[in-house]
Amino acid sequence: MAEATNFIEQIVESDLESGKVTVIQTRFPPEPNGYLHIGHAKSMFVNFGTALKYGGKCNLFFDDTNPSKEKTEFVDAIRADIRWLGYEWARECYASDFFDTIYEYAEKLIMDGKAFVCDLSAEEIKNTRGTLTEPGQESPYRNRSVEENLRLFREMKAGKYADGEKCLRAKIDMASPNVNMRDPVIYRILHMSHHRTGDKWCIYPMYDYAHPICDYLQGVTHSLCTLEFEDHRPLYDWVGINLGFDPKPRQIEFARLNITNLVMSKRYLKKLVEEGSVHGWDDPRMPTLAGLRNRGVPAAAIRDFCERAGVTKANSECEIGYFEAVIRDYLNARAPRAMAVLDPLKLVITNYEGGEDVDFDVNPLEPETGTRKVHFSGELYIDRSDFSLDPPPKYHRLKLGGNVRLKSAYIIRADEAVKDENGNVVEVRCTYFPESRSGSDTSGIKAKGVIHWVDASTAVDAVVKQYDHLLNDADYAGQDFNERLNRDSEHLFSAKAEPYLAEVPEGSDFQLLRVGYYKTCRDGDKLCLSEVVSLKDNFNK
Ligand code: ATP
Ligand code: MG
Repeated sequence: MAEATNFIEQIVESDLESGKVTVIQTRFPPEPNGYLHIGHAKSMFVNFGTALKYGGKCNLFFDDTNPSKEKTEFVDAIRADIRWLGYEWARECYASDFFDTIYEYAEKLIMDGKAFVCDLSAEEIKNTRGTLTEPGQESPYRNRSVEENLRLFREMKAGKYADGEKCLRAKIDMASPNVNMRDPVIYRILHMSHHRTGDKWCIYPMYDYAHPICDYLQGVTHSLCTLEFEDHRPLYDWVGINLGFDPKPRQIEFARLNITNLVMSKRYLKKLVEEGSVHGWDDPRMPTLAGLRNRGVPAAAIRDFCERAGVTKANSECEIGYFEAVIRDYLNARAPRAMAVLDPLKLVITNYEGGEDVDFDVNPLEPETGTRKVHFSGELYIDRSDFSLDPPPKYHRLKLGGNVRLKSAYIIRADEAVKDENGNVVEVRCTYFPESRSGSDTSGIKAKGVIHWVDASTAVDAVVKQYDHLLNDADYAGQDFNERLNRDSEHLFSAKAEPYLAEVPEGSDFQLLRVGYYKTCRDGDKLCLSEVVSLKDNFNK
């Protein structure tokens, strides 16, 4: 058997070993009211990953008990995101598939004297729930007869009552120390169309009541959810016990994934989209899976991150730098290298004539990827930040009278800086050393620094997009997210890039040498290089 690496896997293993369970069945249960985010990736890693590891199955279960917020658009996006992340579900189902059975189970509870129709308003129910230290008050409708409850519940279903006029409550214990057990509402009246059942229903089951039933009907063995449901587990179990479920699914809670500088509440992400603070759900700055995909983050790096972040029982917050370090590690090993300059400065090699192709390592960490040809000539672009008229001590890039190596090409010496009428450097004139060519350097000339470059005559214009975090640091707990919103998180550059970058398929990830990891895309007919993750590692520092 596979080796358990967390407490959920330990439980699963012992259930398999004891014979309590023969095949693991889990489910990933999104509510189709928004796009999936990196937190959901964690939930998928736990639900799909555990099933996969132990030869079981995981369903895709859409929790659509709340008709007011659910949309088919989200259902489609969720499916696409799960597949992109690399998971495939055994069966797809919806809470609404089970509405008939969920309803019948409610009648059974009524007939067993375990549920009653209550006329109190939502407000009154809230006000009589008691507190953590005081018991609640029993509803005056709690002792209605089975016949009356059944009649009223059927009338609720038939549409006789307005929203909120009545509800169905489980009859449990108004003095329970667990507030969730104080006669919780299990059905409410809502005259509203549902994205799948249309106008068939005007009463809808509450999540806490419907979820254990849906789990049972799917044959779920382990219902894996986040910690905020821990206090709901007694109700989950109550439903299973009182409806005679055998075998009863087991709910196990794990800690949510939280990451600094990121918010994973669908409600807030929706607000960002609606208020136009981002370009959409798939904006590369969004923590949605659609955003991360658009950003160029490989799905495997996300799965890797979820695995490394671990599955625990205690809430904590992960540094965003750690997430970025995992992405960087992944791309560093796999992304081909290329060159582009974000702030181009013309460089003229006065003693070089013609042009040639030089050999450029595709990925020096993967020697079998070999080399490709990059065109070199006497007119190049380098990055403005790689030349200084007033260099600080130990400056190893280009300075007047100083040497530097042009990556994969020659060593050059800067002779002269040409300025415009405002005194800005517009061109650097250099001399190259013919014997210093990379790979066959016999010059004996030393150069401490290596800089990247792009051949001027073949370069293509590119828009480079760089991103900051969408949210400022998380030390603002309790404050409105709006105050944390970084309103200047997208930076554009007019860059010069190797023509090669315009020829590769759109959506390819690259390491732009000395710049960062970028994805190629198009903006009309213009090449766009969009930042995946910077080269700088702020985490291991
Ligand atoms: P949100 O608060 O963003 O709306 P949610 O929990 O309401 O999230 P659901 O669609 O109900 O979103 O979530 C589907 C599953 O994903 C649930 O089991 C939920 O516990 C889990 N999940 C959501 N956010 C996280 C997270 N940050 N870490 C781990 N699991 C998560
Ligand atoms: Mg939810």
